[in-house]
Amino acid sequence: MLEKVVIANRGEIALRILRACRELGIRTVAVHSTVDRELKHVRLADETVCIGPPPAADSYLNMPAIISAAEVTDAVAIHPGYGFLSENADFAERVEQSGFIFIGPRPDTIRLMGDKVSAIRAMKEAGVPCVPGSDGPLGDDDQENLRIAHQIGYPIIIKAAGGGGGRGMRVVHSEAALLTTLDLTRSEANAAFGNPTVYMEKYLDHPRHVEIQVLADTHGHAIHLGERDCSMQRRHQKVIEEAPAPGVSTEQRRRIGQLCVEACQRIGYRGAGTFEFLYQDGEFYFIEMNTRVQVEHPVTELITGVDIVREQLRIAAGEPLGYRQDQIRIHGHALECRLNAEDPDTFAPSPGTITQYHPPGGPGLRVDSHLYNGYRVPPNYDSMIGKLIAHGETRAVAIARMRNALAELVIEGIKTNAPLHRRILSDARFIAGGTDIHYLERQLLEAH
Ligand code: ADP
Repeated sequence: MLEKVVIANRGEIALRILRACRELGIRTVAVHSTVDRELKHVRLADETVCIGPPPAADSYLNMPAIISAAEVTDAVAIHPGYGFLSENADFAERVEQSGFIFIGPRPDTIRLMGDKVSAIRAMKEAGVPCVPGSDGPLGDDDQENLRIAHQIGYPIIIKAAGGGGGRGMRVVHSEAALLTTLDLTRSEANAAFGNPTVYMEKYLDHPRHVEIQVLADTHGHAIHLGERDCSMQRRHQKVIEEAPAPGVSTEQRRRIGQLCVEACQRIGYRGAGTFEFLYQDGEFYFIEMNTRVQVEHPVTELITGVDIVREQLRIAAGEPLGYRQDQIRIHGHALECRLNAEDPDTFAPSPGTITQYHPPGGPGLRVDSHLYNGYRVPPNYDSMIGKLIAHGETRAVAIARMRNALAELVIEGIKTNAPLHRRILSDARFIAGGTDIHYLERQLLEAH
Protein backbone atom coordinates (compact mmCIF):
# COMPACT_ATOMS: atom_id res chain seq x y z
CA MET A 1 0.00 0.00 0.00
CA LEU A 2 0.96 3.66 -0.26
CA GLU A 3 2.95 4.71 2.80
CA LYS A 4 2.11 8.38 3.02
CA VAL A 5 -0.34 10.56 1.09
CA VAL A 6 -0.60 14.34 0.77
CA ILE A 7 -4.22 15.50 0.87
CA ALA A 8 -4.23 18.51 -1.47
CA ASN A 9 -7.67 19.80 -0.57
CA ARG A 10 -9.74 21.11 2.32
CA GLY A 11 -13.12 20.75 4.03
CA GLU A 12 -15.28 17.67 3.94
CA ILE A 13 -13.47 15.89 1.09
CA ALA A 14 -10.09 16.27 2.82
CA LEU A 15 -11.61 14.62 5.90
CA ARG A 16 -13.17 11.89 3.74
CA ILE A 17 -9.77 11.12 2.17
CA LEU A 18 -8.06 11.18 5.58
CA ARG A 19 -10.56 8.62 6.92
CA ALA A 20 -9.99 6.29 3.95
CA CYS A 21 -6.21 6.58 4.37
CA ARG A 22 -6.38 5.79 8.08
CA GLU A 23 -8.51 2.74 7.44
CA LEU A 24 -5.82 1.44 5.10
CA GLY A 25 -2.98 2.31 7.49
CA ILE A 26 -1.69 5.10 5.22
CA ARG A 27 -0.05 8.08 6.92
CA THR A 28 -1.44 11.49 5.98
CA VAL A 29 -0.09 14.96 5.30
CA ALA A 30 -2.60 17.81 5.41
CA VAL A 31 -1.55 20.85 3.39
CA HIS A 32 -3.51 23.96 4.32
CA SER A 33 -3.71 27.72 3.96
CA THR A 34 -3.12 30.06 6.90
CA VAL A 35 -6.87 30.46 7.45
CA ASP A 36 -7.42 26.67 7.57
CA ARG A 37 -5.28 25.66 10.57
CA GLU A 38 -8.42 24.77 12.52
CA LEU A 39 -9.86 22.39 9.90
CA LYS A 40 -10.80 19.05 11.38
CA HIS A 41 -8.60 16.96 9.06
CA VAL A 42 -5.62 19.26 9.76
CA ARG A 43 -6.03 18.44 13.45
CA LEU A 44 -6.26 14.71 12.71
CA ALA A 45 -3.49 14.36 10.11
CA ASP A 46 -0.14 12.79 10.97
CA GLU A 47 1.71 15.81 9.57
CA THR A 48 0.69 19.26 8.41
CA VAL A 49 2.30 21.79 6.09
CA CYS A 50 1.10 25.36 5.67
CA ILE A 51 1.27 26.10 1.92
CA GLY A 52 0.30 29.76 1.75
CA PRO A 53 -2.13 32.58 2.45
CA PRO A 54 -5.95 32.25 2.18
CA PRO A 55 -6.49 33.01 -1.54
CA ALA A 56 -6.71 29.64 -3.30
CA ALA A 57 -4.37 30.88 -6.04
CA ASP A 58 -1.63 31.18 -3.41
CA SER A 59 -2.35 27.96 -1.51
CA TYR A 60 -4.61 25.15 -2.80
CA LEU A 61 -3.74 26.05 -6.42
CA ASN A 62 -0.04 26.61 -5.68
CA MET A 63 1.58 23.66 -7.45
CA PRO A 64 5.21 24.17 -6.31
CA ALA A 65 4.10 24.58 -2.67
CA ILE A 66 2.07 21.36 -2.73
CA ILE A 67 4.81 19.36 -4.46
CA SER A 68 7.42 20.74 -2.01
CA ALA A 69 5.18 19.63 0.87
CA ALA A 70 5.25 16.10 -0.55
CA GLU A 71 9.03 16.31 -0.83
CA VAL A 72 9.74 17.54 2.70
CA THR A 73 7.41 14.99 4.28
CA ASP A 74 8.64 12.03 2.16
CA ALA A 75 5.12 11.31 0.92
CA VAL A 76 4.64 8.97 -2.04
CA ALA A 77 1.35 10.19 -3.49
CA ILE A 78 -0.94 13.21 -3.77
CA HIS A 79 -4.74 13.01 -3.61
CA PRO A 80 -6.27 16.14 -5.22
CA GLY A 81 -9.90 15.58 -4.09
CA TYR A 82 -12.37 17.55 -6.26
CA GLY A 83 -12.18 21.15 -7.50
CA PHE A 84 -8.85 23.00 -7.09
CA LEU A 85 -6.12 21.09 -9.02
CA SER A 86 -8.01 17.80 -9.39
CA GLU A 87 -8.60 18.16 -13.14
CA ASN A 88 -5.45 20.09 -13.98
CA ALA A 89 -3.38 17.96 -16.37
CA ASP A 90 -0.29 20.16 -15.91
CA PHE A 91 -0.43 19.56 -12.15
CA ALA A 92 -0.80 15.80 -12.59
CA GLU A 93 2.17 15.87 -14.96
CA ARG A 94 4.33 17.88 -12.56
CA VAL A 95 3.41 15.55 -9.70
CA GLU A 96 4.52 12.53 -11.74
CA GLN A 97 7.65 14.25 -13.04
CA SER A 98 8.61 15.01 -9.44
CA GLY A 99 8.44 11.29 -8.69
CA PHE A 100 5.09 11.13 -6.90
CA ILE A 101 1.92 9.20 -7.68
CA PHE A 102 -1.00 11.36 -8.79
CA ILE A 103 -4.19 9.78 -7.42
CA GLY A 104 -6.23 10.11 -10.58
CA PRO A 105 -6.00 9.34 -14.29
CA ARG A 106 -2.90 9.78 -16.43
CA PRO A 107 -2.22 13.45 -17.35
CA ASP A 108 -2.98 12.88 -21.05
CA THR A 109 -6.40 11.39 -20.14
CA ILE A 110 -7.19 14.47 -18.03
CA ARG A 111 -6.17 16.65 -20.98
CA LEU A 112 -8.28 14.65 -23.45
CA MET A 113 -11.38 14.82 -21.24
CA GLY A 114 -10.76 18.39 -20.04
CA ASP A 115 -11.37 19.69 -23.55
CA LYS A 116 -15.04 19.05 -24.22
CA VAL A 117 -14.59 18.91 -27.99
CA SER A 118 -11.90 16.22 -27.78
CA ALA A 119 -13.87 14.39 -25.06
CA ILE A 120 -16.99 14.22 -27.24
CA ARG A 121 -14.92 13.06 -30.22
CA ALA A 122 -13.35 10.28 -28.13
CA MET A 123 -16.76 9.21 -26.80
CA LYS A 124 -18.32 9.16 -30.27
CA GLU A 125 -15.48 6.91 -31.42
CA ALA A 126 -16.15 4.63 -28.44
CA GLY A 127 -19.82 4.35 -29.39
CA VAL A 128 -21.13 6.45 -26.47
CA PRO A 129 -24.28 8.42 -27.48
CA CYS A 130 -23.73 12.21 -27.59
CA VAL A 131 -26.03 15.24 -28.00
CA PRO A 132 -26.65 15.98 -31.71
CA GLY A 133 -24.34 18.86 -32.57
CA SER A 134 -21.54 20.33 -34.65
CA ASP A 135 -18.87 17.80 -35.45
CA GLY A 136 -16.06 19.49 -33.53
CA PRO A 137 -15.25 23.19 -33.07
CA LEU A 138 -17.05 25.92 -35.00
CA GLY A 139 -15.01 27.81 -37.60
CA ASP A 140 -15.21 31.43 -38.78
CA ASP A 141 -17.55 30.87 -41.72
CA ASP A 142 -20.88 32.53 -40.79
CA GLN A 143 -22.87 30.81 -43.52
CA GLU A 144 -21.51 27.42 -42.51
CA ASN A 145 -22.37 28.04 -38.82
CA LEU A 146 -25.90 29.11 -39.75
CA ARG A 147 -26.22 25.97 -41.83
CA ILE A 148 -25.03 23.71 -38.97
CA ALA A 149 -27.48 25.33 -36.53
CA HIS A 150 -30.32 25.01 -39.02
CA GLN A 151 -29.52 21.36 -39.51
CA ILE A 152 -29.45 20.66 -35.74
CA GLY A 153 -32.65 22.69 -35.28
CA TYR A 154 -33.27 25.54 -32.79
CA PRO A 155 -32.99 25.98 -29.86
CA ILE A 156 -29.27 25.21 -29.81
CA ILE A 157 -26.64 25.76 -27.11
CA ILE A 158 -23.19 27.19 -27.80
CA LYS A 159 -20.58 25.79 -25.42
CA ALA A 160 -16.94 26.60 -24.73
CA ALA A 161 -14.56 23.66 -25.27
CA GLY A 162 -12.67 24.72 -22.15
CA GLY A 163 -15.75 25.58 -20.08
CA GLY A 164 -16.59 24.22 -16.65
CA GLY A 165 -18.57 24.86 -13.50
CA GLY A 166 -21.66 25.74 -15.50
CA ARG A 167 -19.94 28.68 -17.21
CA GLY A 168 -19.29 29.33 -20.90
CA MET A 169 -22.68 28.30 -22.29
CA ARG A 170 -25.40 30.24 -24.12
CA VAL A 171 -28.72 29.14 -25.53
CA VAL A 172 -29.85 30.46 -28.93
CA HIS A 173 -33.54 30.28 -29.79
CA SER A 174 -33.54 31.58 -33.35
CA GLU A 175 -31.35 32.22 -36.37
CA ALA A 176 -31.41 36.01 -35.83
CA ALA A 177 -29.40 35.71 -32.61
CA LEU A 178 -26.94 33.04 -33.67
CA LEU A 179 -23.96 34.99 -35.00
CA THR A 180 -23.84 37.66 -32.29
CA THR A 181 -24.24 35.03 -29.52
CA LEU A 182 -21.49 32.98 -31.13
CA ASP A 183 -19.09 35.94 -31.06
CA LEU A 184 -20.03 36.77 -27.48
CA THR A 185 -19.54 33.20 -26.21
CA ARG A 186 -16.19 33.03 -28.04
CA SER A 187 -14.81 36.19 -26.48
CA GLU A 188 -16.15 35.27 -23.03
CA ALA A 189 -14.58 31.82 -23.33
CA ASN A 190 -11.28 33.33 -24.35
CA ALA A 191 -11.33 35.70 -21.37
CA ALA A 192 -12.49 33.08 -18.83
CA PHE A 193 -10.71 29.91 -19.97
CA GLY A 194 -7.95 31.22 -22.28
CA ASN A 195 -9.49 29.20 -25.09
CA PRO A 196 -11.90 30.72 -27.65
CA THR A 197 -12.94 27.35 -29.10
CA VAL A 198 -16.71 26.84 -29.09
CA TYR A 199 -19.04 24.15 -30.41
CA MET A 200 -22.77 23.73 -30.85
CA GLU A 201 -25.29 21.23 -29.48
CA LYS A 202 -29.01 20.71 -29.67
CA TYR A 203 -30.53 22.35 -26.58
CA LEU A 204 -32.60 19.71 -24.83
CA ASP A 205 -35.63 21.32 -23.19
CA HIS A 206 -36.53 18.90 -20.37
CA PRO A 207 -33.50 16.69 -19.68
CA ARG A 208 -32.45 15.12 -16.43
CA HIS A 209 -28.79 14.96 -15.39
CA VAL A 210 -27.87 11.29 -15.01
CA GLU A 211 -24.25 10.23 -14.58
CA ILE A 212 -22.41 6.90 -14.46
CA GLN A 213 -19.68 6.20 -11.88
CA VAL A 214 -16.74 4.13 -13.11
CA LEU A 215 -13.61 2.64 -11.58
CA ALA A 216 -10.65 1.40 -13.63
CA ASP A 217 -7.38 -0.14 -12.49
CA THR A 218 -3.95 -0.28 -14.12
CA HIS A 219 -4.43 -3.93 -15.10
CA GLY A 220 -7.02 -3.27 -17.80
CA HIS A 221 -10.09 -3.89 -15.62
CA ALA A 222 -12.97 -1.41 -15.44
CA ILE A 223 -16.41 -1.56 -13.81
CA HIS A 224 -19.36 0.78 -13.42
CA LEU A 225 -21.30 1.37 -10.21
CA GLY A 226 -24.57 2.40 -11.80
CA GLU A 227 -25.98 5.89 -12.11
CA ARG A 228 -26.82 8.96 -10.05
CA ASP A 229 -29.54 11.48 -10.80
CA CYS A 230 -28.33 15.05 -10.16
CA SER A 231 -31.16 16.97 -11.80
CA MET A 232 -31.98 19.15 -8.80
CA GLN A 233 -29.72 22.07 -9.77
CA ARG A 234 -29.47 25.80 -9.34
CA ARG A 235 -27.30 27.71 -11.84
CA HIS A 236 -25.97 24.36 -13.09
CA GLN A 237 -24.80 23.57 -9.53
CA LYS A 238 -26.11 20.35 -8.01
CA VAL A 239 -28.20 20.72 -4.86
CA ILE A 240 -29.55 17.18 -4.26
CA GLU A 241 -28.33 13.93 -5.80
CA GLU A 242 -29.75 10.43 -5.64
CA ALA A 243 -29.10 6.88 -6.75
CA PRO A 244 -30.44 4.97 -8.51
CA ALA A 245 -32.11 7.43 -10.91
CA PRO A 246 -35.91 7.15 -10.74
CA GLY A 247 -37.27 5.27 -13.75
CA VAL A 248 -33.97 4.00 -15.17
CA SER A 249 -34.36 0.25 -15.72
CA THR A 250 -31.84 -2.46 -14.92
CA GLU A 251 -31.43 -3.09 -18.63
CA GLN A 252 -30.81 0.61 -19.42
CA ARG A 253 -28.27 0.78 -16.59
CA ARG A 254 -26.50 -2.33 -17.85
CA ARG A 255 -26.35 -1.00 -21.42
CA ILE A 256 -25.11 2.55 -20.72
CA GLY A 257 -22.80 1.29 -17.95
CA GLN A 258 -21.23 -1.21 -20.32
CA LEU A 259 -20.61 1.52 -22.92
CA CYS A 260 -18.82 3.61 -20.27
CA VAL A 261 -16.71 0.62 -19.20
CA GLU A 262 -15.71 -0.01 -22.82
CA ALA A 263 -14.86 3.69 -23.26
CA CYS A 264 -12.62 3.50 -20.15
CA GLN A 265 -10.77 0.53 -21.56
CA ARG A 266 -10.39 2.21 -24.92
CA ILE A 267 -8.83 5.40 -23.50
CA GLY A 268 -6.78 3.56 -20.85
CA TYR A 269 -8.66 5.24 -18.01
CA ARG A 270 -7.24 4.92 -14.49
CA GLY A 271 -8.99 5.54 -11.18
CA ALA A 272 -12.48 6.85 -10.38
CA GLY A 273 -14.40 8.83 -12.97
CA THR A 274 -17.87 9.96 -13.97
CA PHE A 275 -19.53 10.07 -17.37
CA GLU A 276 -22.15 12.84 -17.30
CA PHE A 277 -25.23 12.48 -19.49
CA LEU A 278 -28.38 14.38 -20.18
CA TYR A 279 -31.28 11.95 -20.08
CA GLN A 280 -34.45 12.82 -21.94
CA ASP A 281 -37.35 10.65 -23.13
CA GLY A 282 -35.48 7.49 -22.17
CA GLU A 283 -32.28 8.34 -24.12
CA PHE A 284 -28.79 9.13 -22.79
CA TYR A 285 -26.65 11.91 -24.32
CA PHE A 286 -23.03 12.26 -23.15
CA ILE A 287 -22.02 15.84 -22.21
CA GLU A 288 -18.72 15.51 -20.36
CA MET A 289 -16.50 13.40 -18.17
CA ASN A 290 -15.21 14.27 -14.70
CA THR A 291 -11.83 12.68 -14.10
CA ARG A 292 -11.92 12.77 -10.29
CA VAL A 293 -13.96 11.80 -7.25
CA GLN A 294 -17.24 13.72 -7.11
CA VAL A 295 -19.05 15.50 -4.30
CA GLU A 296 -21.97 13.09 -4.71
CA HIS A 297 -19.93 9.85 -4.61
CA PRO A 298 -21.47 8.77 -1.23
CA VAL A 299 -24.92 7.96 -2.70
CA THR A 300 -23.25 5.35 -4.90
CA GLU A 301 -21.24 4.05 -1.94
CA LEU A 302 -24.41 3.54 0.08
CA ILE A 303 -26.29 1.59 -2.59
CA THR A 304 -23.33 -0.55 -3.75
CA GLY A 305 -21.26 -0.91 -0.57
CA VAL A 306 -18.13 0.03 -2.56
CA ASP A 307 -15.81 2.55 -0.88
CA ILE A 308 -14.86 4.70 -3.87
CA VAL A 309 -12.07 6.63 -2.14
CA ARG A 310 -10.51 3.40 -0.86
CA GLU A 311 -10.60 2.03 -4.42
CA GLN A 312 -8.87 5.21 -5.65
CA LEU A 313 -6.06 4.63 -3.15
CA ARG A 314 -5.80 0.93 -3.98
CA ILE A 315 -5.70 1.61 -7.73
CA ALA A 316 -3.00 4.28 -7.21
CA ALA A 317 -0.97 1.68 -5.30
CA GLY A 318 -1.14 -0.54 -8.40
CA GLU A 319 -3.56 -3.06 -6.93
CA PRO A 320 -6.25 -4.67 -9.08
CA LEU A 321 -9.88 -3.59 -8.60
CA GLY A 322 -11.46 -5.21 -5.55
CA TYR A 323 -14.66 -6.08 -7.49
CA ARG A 324 -15.85 -7.67 -10.69
CA GLN A 325 -18.89 -6.26 -12.47
CA ASP A 326 -21.03 -9.25 -11.53
CA GLN A 327 -20.32 -8.59 -7.84
CA ILE A 328 -21.86 -5.11 -7.99
CA ARG A 329 -25.41 -5.16 -6.63
CA ILE A 330 -27.69 -2.21 -5.99
CA HIS A 331 -29.35 -2.15 -2.57
CA GLY A 332 -32.14 0.33 -1.90
CA HIS A 333 -31.98 4.03 -2.57
CA ALA A 334 -29.80 6.93 -1.37
CA LEU A 335 -30.15 10.72 -1.38
CA GLU A 336 -27.64 13.46 -0.68
CA CYS A 337 -28.37 17.06 0.37
CA ARG A 338 -25.47 19.48 -0.03
CA LEU A 339 -25.31 21.88 2.90
CA ASN A 340 -24.03 25.34 2.01
CA ALA A 341 -23.18 28.30 4.21
CA GLU A 342 -25.54 30.63 2.38
CA ASP A 343 -28.76 32.57 2.72
CA PRO A 344 -31.57 30.16 1.74
CA ASP A 345 -33.46 32.92 -0.09
CA THR A 346 -30.81 35.15 -1.68
CA PHE A 347 -28.08 32.47 -1.92
CA ALA A 348 -25.52 35.04 -0.69
CA PRO A 349 -22.58 33.31 1.07
CA SER A 350 -22.82 33.32 4.87
CA PRO A 351 -19.39 32.65 6.39
CA GLY A 352 -18.81 32.97 10.14
CA THR A 353 -18.45 31.06 13.40
CA ILE A 354 -20.61 28.02 14.15
CA THR A 355 -22.03 28.63 17.62
CA GLN A 356 -24.13 25.44 17.81
CA TYR A 357 -23.78 22.27 15.78
CA HIS A 358 -25.88 19.17 16.31
CA PRO A 359 -25.57 16.70 13.45
CA PRO A 360 -28.46 14.29 12.89
CA GLY A 361 -28.13 10.51 13.26
CA GLY A 362 -30.05 7.26 13.23
CA PRO A 363 -30.34 4.27 10.90
CA GLY A 364 -29.36 4.83 7.28
CA LEU A 365 -27.85 8.26 7.82
CA ARG A 366 -24.33 9.43 6.98
CA VAL A 367 -22.97 12.91 7.62
CA ASP A 368 -19.87 13.94 5.67
CA SER A 369 -18.84 17.26 7.18
CA HIS A 370 -15.86 18.95 8.78
CA LEU A 371 -18.05 21.15 11.01
CA TYR A 372 -17.78 21.31 14.80
CA ASN A 373 -18.91 23.72 17.49
CA GLY A 374 -16.81 26.87 17.34
CA TYR A 375 -15.46 26.22 13.83
CA ARG A 376 -15.20 29.38 11.74
CA VAL A 377 -16.28 29.03 8.09
CA PRO A 378 -13.82 31.25 6.21
CA PRO A 379 -15.09 33.51 3.40
CA ASN A 380 -12.36 32.46 0.98
CA TYR A 381 -13.65 29.20 -0.48
CA ASP A 382 -16.69 27.36 -1.82
CA SER A 383 -19.65 27.63 0.55
CA MET A 384 -20.28 23.87 0.90
CA ILE A 385 -19.94 22.86 4.57
CA GLY A 386 -21.03 19.24 4.37
CA LYS A 387 -23.46 16.68 3.08
CA LEU A 388 -26.30 14.69 4.59
CA ILE A 389 -26.68 11.30 2.95
CA ALA A 390 -29.70 9.08 3.67
CA HIS A 391 -30.14 5.45 2.64
CA GLY A 392 -33.20 3.20 2.84
CA GLU A 393 -34.59 0.07 1.24
CA THR A 394 -36.85 2.23 -0.94
CA ARG A 395 -36.78 5.83 -2.17
CA ALA A 396 -39.68 6.63 0.18
CA VAL A 397 -37.70 5.38 3.20
CA ALA A 398 -34.62 7.35 2.14
CA ILE A 399 -36.77 10.50 1.80
CA ALA A 400 -38.36 9.93 5.23
CA ARG A 401 -34.91 9.52 6.80
CA MET A 402 -33.61 12.66 5.08
CA ARG A 403 -36.61 14.63 6.32
CA ASN A 404 -35.89 13.43 9.87
CA ALA A 405 -32.25 14.38 9.46
CA LEU A 406 -33.12 17.87 8.23
CA ALA A 407 -35.53 18.31 11.13
CA GLU A 408 -32.86 17.25 13.66
CA LEU A 409 -30.00 19.25 12.17
CA VAL A 410 -28.99 22.33 14.14
CA ILE A 411 -26.42 24.77 12.75
CA GLU A 412 -26.35 28.16 14.42
CA GLY A 413 -24.16 31.21 13.92
CA ILE A 414 -24.35 31.15 10.12
CA LYS A 415 -27.16 30.81 7.61
CA THR A 416 -27.47 27.57 5.67
CA ASN A 417 -29.59 26.26 2.82
CA ALA A 418 -31.22 23.64 5.11
CA PRO A 419 -34.63 25.41 4.78
CA LEU A 420 -34.43 25.02 0.99
CA HIS A 421 -33.74 21.29 1.41
CA ARG A 422 -36.71 20.96 3.76
CA ARG A 423 -38.90 22.57 1.12
CA ILE A 424 -37.66 20.33 -1.68
CA LEU A 425 -38.04 17.20 0.46
CA SER A 426 -41.71 17.99 1.04
CA ASP A 427 -42.48 18.95 -2.58
CA ALA A 428 -44.97 16.58 -4.22
CA ARG A 429 -43.21 16.54 -7.61
CA PHE A 430 -39.84 15.79 -6.04
CA ILE A 431 -41.41 13.04 -3.95
CA ALA A 432 -42.93 11.57 -7.13
CA GLY A 433 -39.40 11.51 -8.65
CA GLY A 434 -37.94 12.24 -12.05
CA THR A 435 -38.03 16.07 -12.14
CA ASP A 436 -35.84 17.68 -14.83
CA ILE A 437 -32.85 20.03 -14.51
CA HIS A 438 -35.06 23.15 -14.77
CA TYR A 439 -37.51 22.17 -12.06
CA LEU A 440 -35.83 23.83 -9.07
CA GLU A 441 -35.24 27.19 -10.75
CA ARG A 442 -38.34 27.41 -12.91
CA GLN A 443 -40.95 26.03 -10.54
CA LEU A 444 -39.82 25.70 -6.95
CA LEU A 445 -37.82 28.91 -6.60
CA GLU A 446 -40.12 31.07 -8.73
CA ALA A 447 -43.24 29.99 -6.83
CA HIS A 448 -41.64 31.00 -3.55
P1 ADP B 1 -19.94 22.22 -17.00
O1 ADP B 1 -18.64 21.59 -17.36
O2 ADP B 1 -19.85 23.71 -16.95
O3 ADP B 1 -20.59 21.60 -15.80
P2 ADP B 1 -21.74 20.69 -18.74
O4 ADP B 1 -21.45 20.41 -20.17
O5 ADP B 1 -21.58 19.56 -17.78
O6 ADP B 1 -20.90 21.96 -18.27
O7 ADP B 1 -23.22 21.26 -18.62
C1 ADP B 1 -23.70 21.76 -17.37
C2 ADP B 1 -25.20 21.84 -17.36
O8 ADP B 1 -25.66 22.67 -18.44
C3 ADP B 1 -25.90 20.51 -17.57
O9 ADP B 1 -26.03 19.77 -16.37
C4 ADP B 1 -27.25 21.01 -18.08
O10 ADP B 1 -27.98 21.53 -16.99
C5 ADP B 1 -26.88 22.18 -18.98
N1 ADP B 1 -26.66 21.74 -20.39
C6 ADP B 1 -25.47 21.43 -20.96
N2 ADP B 1 -25.65 21.03 -22.25
C7 ADP B 1 -26.97 21.11 -22.51
C8 ADP B 1 -27.80 20.80 -23.66
N3 ADP B 1 -27.28 20.38 -24.81
N4 ADP B 1 -29.14 20.98 -23.53
C9 ADP B 1 -29.69 21.43 -22.37
N5 ADP B 1 -28.97 21.72 -21.25
C10 ADP B 1 -27.63 21.57 -21.31
